[in-house]
Amino acid sequence: MNITYRCPQCDRSVRVELSGGVVVCPACRAQIEPPPSAWRDGELERCLVCPSGELYVRKDFPQRWGLAIIVVGFLLSSVAWAYHRSLLSLGILIATALLDALLYWLVGDVVACYRCHAEYRGVAGRGRIRPFDLAVHERFRRQAARQTLSAKQ
Ligand SMILES: [Zn+2]
Ligand SMILES: [Zn+2]
Repeated sequence: MNITYRCPQCDRSVRVELSGGVVVCPACRAQIEPPPSAWRDGELERCLVCPSGELYVRKDFPQRWGLAIIVVGFLLSSVAWAYHRSLLSLGILIATALLDALLYWLVGDVVACYRCHAEYRGVAGRGRIRPFDLAVHERFRRQAARQTLSAKQ
């Protein structure tokens, strides 16, 4: 399992392979020691980087790739259309959609934290973690905005 997170000590985005119980920043060696309650029956119970227990699971889909495939497919299809190859044009669009779906199906899951945006890959047993919920995300976003505001005052 590895974690991608923003180190609270040096503020850098780092990625660590987790072997023991302690998360060590590869940039500044700052340690985060999650409590044993972070795990239950070998399943992730809460975020290891921050104390939040709100995690979600999403597809580890590189958004830029997905977009690039669609844009390229659309351009090729437009070129075919301009040359009056309507069947080819349609074929390219369908192939693009299929490729997109295939890629989505092939990629693994990533578990992420609403609060600190840490990402966990290769997490064993994520049965209890629910998919992304916009309402929870909004709640944390507002909370973070309030904190930034009060920190400025
Ligand atoms: Zn650090
Ligand atoms: Zn977190």
